[in-house]
Amino acid sequence: MSAYPNTQLYINGRWRQGLNDDLTVVNPASGEVIGRVSNVGVADLDEALSAAAAGFEQWRRTSAFERAKLMHAAAEILRQRTTAISRIMTLEQGKPLAESKAEAAAAADIIDWFAEEARRAYGRLIPPRAANVRQMVVKEPVGPVAAFSPWNFPLNQAVRKVSAALAAGCSIILKGPEETPASCAELVRAFAEAGLPAGVLNLVFGIPADISNHLIPHPIIRKISFTGSTAVGKQLASLAGAHMKRVTMELGGHAPAIVFDDADIDLAVRLLAAAKFRNAGQVCVAPTRFLIQEPVFDKFLDGLVKAAEAINVGDGLSDGVTMGPLANARRVGAMEALTADAVMRGAKIATGGKRIGNLGNFFQPTVLTDVPQHARVLSEEPFGPLAIVSAFSDYNSAIAEANRLPYGLAAYAYTTSAKTSAALARDIESGMLSINHHGLALPELPFGGIKDSGYGSEGGSEAMESYLNTKLVTEAA
Ligand code: NAD
Repeated sequence: MSAYPNTQLYINGRWRQGLNDDLTVVNPASGEVIGRVSNVGVADLDEALSAAAAGFEQWRRTSAFERAKLMHAAAEILRQRTTAISRIMTLEQGKPLAESKAEAAAAADIIDWFAEEARRAYGRLIPPRAANVRQMVVKEPVGPVAAFSPWNFPLNQAVRKVSAALAAGCSIILKGPEETPASCAELVRAFAEAGLPAGVLNLVFGIPADISNHLIPHPIIRKISFTGSTAVGKQLASLAGAHMKRVTMELGGHAPAIVFDDADIDLAVRLLAAAKFRNAGQVCVAPTRFLIQEPVFDKFLDGLVKAAEAINVGDGLSDGVTMGPLANARRVGAMEALTADAVMRGAKIATGGKRIGNLGNFFQPTVLTDVPQHARVLSEEPFGPLAIVSAFSDYNSAIAEANRLPYGLAAYAYTTSAKTSAALARDIESGMLSINHHGLALPELPFGGIKDSGYGSEGGSEAMESYLNTKLVTEAA
């Protein structure tokens, strides 16, 4: 068996065990326990809070120039370790090695981009009404951050929060993903080895609700960032609201992908299939509701089914594998339940629909058709390798279906009509819309949702803003 490291907490510049008994980490490709992760007690959290308070005082006074230099150094360390980190990620999360490598490379790019933004957190001068008055708008770091990152992208969900917070001058307590802890810990190690002062970045693992219930109300914490399900996001946002904490919420989605009859269908099939089955569909922006205009429905469905059947499902460490197992057994149960419910209500399985074997969490790339609107899968986020393909007749009916759900994260469309593109940009209710390509998630682009998909942004200059306070200083000479 490949070596997999146990993961410790990182508090006040020290790697150490938690007060509670360790949790176990399972390889989703085999079901075997491969390691352990430390588990915080309340006293550990209190130490992390004190460390974050002291770390903030030091880090906010570190110049943006120095912060950026240190962040670039961490990015470089991460880059040098891509091979080792990606292997760890595949062992704990399941995704094919090539996807893990791409994630590690992207993480380094994200750090670099935010490092550069650190130096551009500009304020402004506002022309006064009297000649002796100077009106200054100053950007200041919001304070110590509590961040909660999930298991689907163990590095990249964490790195966006950590990089934006550090660039802004905040300290941070990161609750990493207990099921995929070791690759996330490598991110923290890169910052530690780059010379980040003790207390500025702390990493904890444990029982998620115990940690959020302790950290969010705590007066030291000034900002919450959470990525995960809408249900949990609503609970945490309520708690944050009760304590007047600033919040960024990156929650679930149920992305529509609308393919018009004038589109390049081969391109649409190729890019949408890749986006659907990447990371076994466990992606908040994965296309889920495929809405295809009637004249091209058969051609698109045929292409998507062929693409799904060409996927090589297996252990992400094996050569040639293009889709790994689901990251945990809960997702296999969810795929089975959603498929059974849809079929019971009249849906047809165009391909897939079943668990593969009984070792590990493998599920077939699945395409469903004829799914009635009241089927659960047409309102619940599948978060797995499941595509629902439906036909539409005209533009208005496609928009009505696309906007039907309370979610509003990503949306996709394929059309060669400039008029249709312009109309989509106006009519689609989502935080992100990508037309004729898959163009989301670059560090320089805003990344976030509306409606039940959350608020705030995890990319672009908007992400920096969410870690900054705006202070007005007005002064008469
Ligand atoms: P879940 O709702 O139990 O947990 C989702 C995430 O929230 C996990 O990372 C978990 O550790 C964390 N969490 C749960 N309760 C928490 C609490 N009280 N305080 C702080 N953190 C808490 O579900 P799950 O089975 O882990 O994931 C399934 C669902 O979560 C998916 O269907 C998907 O909708 C959503 N999800 C979304 C993303 C995303 O990228 N937006 C990532 C992972 C999971």
